[in-house]
This record gives sequence, structure tokens and C-alpha cells, in this order.
Amino acid sequence: MCDHDADQDNADFNFNKFWGPDGYRSRVVFERGSDMYCVYCGDVADTREHCPSKVFLSKPYPDDLPVVPACQKCNNGFSKDELYTKAFIEYYQNYCYYTTISVSEKRKEVREAKQKFAECVESNKIVYDERIGEILIKLSICHAAYELTEAYHEDDRSGMPEYVSYTFRPNMTQEEIDASDDFIPINDCVLPIIGSRVFNKIYVFGPALSAVESDDMFVTQQAVMDWTDVQDNHYRYVCWLDSQHINVKLVINEFLYAMVVFNLEQ
Ligand SMILES: [Zn+2]
Repeated sequence: MCDHDADQDNADFNFNKFWGPDGYRSRVVFERGSDMYCVYCGDVADTREHCPSKVFLSKPYPDDLPVVPACQKCNNGFSKDELYTKAFIEYYQNYCYYTTISVSEKRKEVREAKQKFAECVESNKIVYDERIGEILIKLSICHAAYELTEAYHEDDRSGMPEYVSYTFRPNMTQEEIDASDDFIPINDCVLPIIGSRVFNKIYVFGPALSAVESDDMFVTQQAVMDWTDVQDNHYRYVCWLDSQHINVKLVINEFLYAMVVFNLEQ
């Protein structure tokens, strides 16, 4: 089962809902001590949402999980498809490695994911699944909002994800797996506004390292972005900006590997 990387035009996905209409965008920011607005739709946020949702983690949960402001509707609106996504990953992992299934088949979404995976096995093909794709977009929005902050200040973005792709570990080469947690080189990238959380994740390798390895890789100074490990073997992500894009990579269960790119230009 391979070749299921897929681009998607998200035709059915009302992405504007999550970025809000133009008038909302400049308000979709974090302002300490003031009203918070939902990172997904721009409405007043009356809840705080963990990102990622706990369904992607296991107990005991890590302390200090990232949280973003969300309205009640958005906070609850994704949970079914998040469970479906988690279940699909687990059934696929179980099929490959006989791992335990932690999700309950009492839940309709879990049975739907099981059925969907069975169809994939039957046809020997995994195709892009919109329910999973939408959750990957949703997760990317909250990671970018939490880490980059600045990405939500400007009005001149289309808000559409330009690129959404995901694949699963059995369909990756060993090289791809080995490279999947590499630092992201950001020498040519745009730095987020000062004070963004992601600054904690930026490292600069100086030329001194070249003496150790006699490898010219570090002859020039290299700025890199490190991954945020939310919970070992369960969830990690990294976000970075370039001149036109917000880029987010995330890995669930060290099994689903995703990349979502948002275009900052109209
Ligand atoms: Zn909302």
C-alpha cells in the first residue's frame, strides 16, 4: 500500500471558517489580559483547547500541554474526526506491528475508521482521506498560532492551505524515516515576531562545529528550528515561516507523517 501522498484542493473544506473573514483576521491573535479569539474561526473564544488534543496522547499526559483559545463550537467540532484519525492510525499500526488498539469500538468513528482501513487493505491502496486531512489542517493551524503568533497578525493571506500531504511509516524509505526528525534549516527563512514561543526552538550552529567533523556542513553559521516533542512516540511537530508560507510538519505515533503549508500571499 503506497502512493497515498496526496495534494488536495480542500474544495469541501470551508477553510475561511477557520481563519475567519477578512475582518476577523487581525483579531485572531493572542493578547494577554484581553479577550481571546478562536484561532479557528475568529469568534470570541470561551474555551481553551489543548493542541494537540489528548486523543493523540496517552496517560499520564504531559504537563504544560500547549493550549489555544477556541470557541465552544470549534473546540467540540473536531473531536469526532480526531478520534477517527487516531483510530485509523492505530488500525494501520496494528496491521503492521500487532500493536494494541486503545480506541473503543463502541464509538461510531472508531468503527468507521476500522471499516475504512479494511477497505484500504482490500484494495491494497491508501487514498487521501479528507477526514484525516482536515484534522491535519486543524492541528497545523493551532500549532502555527501557538508557536508563531505573528502568522495571524497580517491581513494579506489567502488562508488556504497550499499543500497538505501525509504518509505512513511503512510507505517511507529508511532514509526518509531517518531524516524525519532533522532540524529544519531556517537560514533563509523569516523569523517570527520577537516573543513568539518558537524562539525557544531555534538554535544556531556556529563554524566551531566544523572542526569536530571536518565536514563543511557547518562552515557557515546555520540557524535551525527544532521539533517540539509533545509526548515521546505519540506526537511531535515543528513550525517555521519562509517569505511566503507557514510550514508545519507533524508526526503522530511515529507512524503518520504530515506536512501542511499555508500560503501567506493572497
Ligand atoms: Zn471557533
